Amino acid sequence: MDTIIAKIQNKDSDEAIYMKAAQILKNGGLVAFPTETVYGLGANALDEMASAKIYAAKRRPSDNPLIVHIADVADLDKLAVDIDDRVKKTVKAFWPGPLTMILKKNQCIPDSITGGLDTVAIRMPSHFVAANLIKKSKIFIAAPSANISGRPSPTRAKHVIEDMNGIIDMIIEHDEVDIGVESTIIDLSVDKPVILRPGYITKAQLEQVLGEVFVDPAIQGNIADGVIPKAPGMKYKHYAPKAKVIIVDGKDNDVIDVINCLTKDKQLEGLKVGIMTCSENMKKYKADVVFDIGSRYDEASNARTLFEALRLFDEKKVDYVYSESFPTNNVGAAVMNRLIKAAGHTILHV
Ligand code: AMP
Ligand code: MG
Repeated sequence: MDTIIAKIQNKDSDEAIYMKAAQILKNGGLVAFPTETVYGLGANALDEMASAKIYAAKRRPSDNPLIVHIADVADLDKLAVDIDDRVKKTVKAFWPGPLTMILKKNQCIPDSITGGLDTVAIRMPSHFVAANLIKKSKIFIAAPSANISGRPSPTRAKHVIEDMNGIIDMIIEHDEVDIGVESTIIDLSVDKPVILRPGYITKAQLEQVLGEVFVDPAIQGNIADGVIPKAPGMKYKHYAPKAKVIIVDGKDNDVIDVINCLTKDKQLEGLKVGIMTCSENMKKYKADVVFDIGSRYDEASNARTLFEALRLFDEKKVDYVYSESFPTNNVGAAVMNRLIKAAGHTILHV
C-alpha cells in the first residue's frame, strides 16, 4: 500500500490534509497522527472492520483494548454510562489532556475495541492536530500508539514512518510530541479510583481532585509473581528495543563503575553496548553508544527522550543496553514504569 505522508505546516495546506485524513477514516482506513503523549494510529472506533485493521497493522494481541479519542466532552454520554461526579470533576480538571478514563461502556461500543470487557477507555487529547482531526472527521477515533506492538512508542513522525510506512493509509507529520510517554489511565468504573498506568498526570494531582486514589499493584509488581494487571496491555513486554536492557540502580559512583565494568566485559566478548544516562553523567561513560535523556532534575525531558533513545539503540544495533534509573517524583514515575518493562524487570542493585 502507498502511504500518504503529509506535514502540518500552515493554515492553507493543513485544511486539505485534515479533509483527506477524515475521508480515509470515514471509509474505514487507518491514519497516524500526533497527540500530546505519543503518535496515535487511528481508526473509526465504532466500525469493527476499521479497528480490526489497527490490530493487524500493529500486530497487537486482540485482548488488548483500544482508547477511544473524543474532541467534545458532550460526547462522553454517547460512549459511556454511569457518568458520576467523580468523572465530571476529573474531566474538568484534566481534559483535554493526557488522561484516559476507564468507564462502563455504552451499548454502541463494539466488543472488538474493548477486548470483550464491559468497560471502555476514553480520552480527549489536547494536541491541536488530534483535536482538529476528530472534529473534522466527525467520528470517535480509536487510537493506540502508532508503533508495531512491543516496540518503543513513536514520539516523532519518523518513528511512525519506520514502523507503519506501506502498512497504513496516511501519516500526518508534525513536530516531536510534547510529553513523550502514553496517557495516565485511571479506572473510574469501580468504587475506588485506581491508576492502571502511570503517565504525565500524577497520583498526587489526581488525589487533589478525587481524594484517595489507588495504584494497580501490577504497575510496581513483577508480573512473573502472578499479579495480573487490570489494563490488559500492561502484561505484555513493551517499549523494548531488540537489545537486552539492564537497569543498574544504586549510588551514583557505584552505578557508573559497574556500568563501565559491564560494558568493558561485553565489548571483550565482541558485543556492542549502549548506555542510557542523565546529562550530568554523560561524560563518565565509555561505550559504543551513550545516550543522554536529559538532566536528572528535568523529568519532563527524560519522558520526551526515553523512547527515542530506545529506538536509537535498535538503529545502532547494540546487543546490550545498560541504563541508570531516573527520578520518579512526577512524570518520572511513568518513565521508570516504561523502562522497567523494556528491561523485562531486570534491575541490578549495586
Ligand atoms: P495504548 O493504546 O497502546 O496506549 O494502550 C492502551 C492501554 O489502555 C492498554 O494498556 C490497554 O490495556 C488499556 N485499556 C484500554 N481499554 C481498557 C479497559 N476497558 N480496561 C482496562 N484497560 C484498558
Ligand atoms: Mg502502545
